[in-house]
Amino acid sequence: AKDKGKNSFHLYVPNLEQAVNDKMTIQNELNRALVRQEFLLHYQPQVSAKSGAIVGVEALIRWDHPQRGLLLPDQFISVAEETGLIVPIGEWVLRTACKQNKQWQEQGLMPLRVAVNLSARQFLKQDFTQMVAEILEQTGLAPEYLELEITESSMIDVQRATQALKELKQLGVHVAIDDFGTGYSSLYYLKEFPLNRLKIDRSFVRDMLDQPSNQAIVSTIISMAHHLQLHVIAEGVETKEELAFLQEHLCEEVQGYLFSRPLPSEDVAFYLQAQKGA
Ligand code: C2E
Ligand code: CA
Ligand code: CA
Ligand code: CA
Repeated sequence: AKDKGKNSFHLYVPNLEQAVNDKMTIQNELNRALVRQEFLLHYQPQVSAKSGAIVGVEALIRWDHPQRGLLLPDQFISVAEETGLIVPIGEWVLRTACKQNKQWQEQGLMPLRVAVNLSARQFLKQDFTQMVAEILEQTGLAPEYLELEITESSMIDVQRATQALKELKQLGVHVAIDDFGTGYSSLYYLKEFPLNRLKIDRSFVRDMLDQPSNQAIVSTIISMAHHLQLHVIAEGVETKEELAFLQEHLCEEVQGYLFSRPLPSEDVAFYLQAQKGA
């Protein structure tokens, strides 16, 4: 409605208008959700492919919406990214995940890594490493128990990404490339960037057993990663056959419904307690 003179905006397109309204509603509600603490984290176990022991958890955000119930990230993360609200939300996620991990350790449970997803916008901010350092200090979590999952879209700003990765390495925090193989992929950066782990995207793991091309991609990613001294984790592992293929190709870690869905923090403590007793 702003550019009345131009012909792109005064067309009446009900679906577009609906979409814009929905987006504004979500934006207003996201602001409120931060203030009223409507977000929570679920944690999905990351398991050693060799021993089956839990070695980490990935923190995944949920929104306990007062009217609509528990919402998954697909329903709000893109709006949070477009509006910039992902920055304060992401800071909340990081702080909460670190605090929770420290709490599990204080309960005497076996120490494990917590992996936190970052949006490019959050990761590429100038003061990002500073914020991570402050959160580690405030929560008392040792840096080696934090892993940051960044996507290939974070590599677009090569200079900034290189700087941030160097700072994080110095801090002692681990970094994984998430959704590996689905984005803007440059093998050159893999060689140059200080990284710890590649995370093979679910889309390659799914249907791996009846699609030879997916098998080729998965086994090639694993061997390339190993040549570059990187560890590998595969996500979306749902069947024993998929696990067997990954074990055979020496993928170190696995994550997926075969082991566990994302769990509330109390259930993770229970899981860890059971493992300790086993
Ligand atoms: P992702 O980082 O690729 O996370 C894995 C997603 O796959 C999660 O969905 C998880 O619940 C799901 N998943 C895990 N194992 C299986 C499996 O065996 N089969 C199937 N079909 N799915 C599985 P979720 O929790 O809905 O998260 C979706 C995406 O939202 C995440 O994808 C991540 O990109 C984003 N996200 C989640 N939490 C955060 C956050 O705190 N910050 C940011 N920036 N993004 C987040
Ligand atoms: Ca992830
Ligand atoms: Ca993925
Ligand atoms: Ca992702």
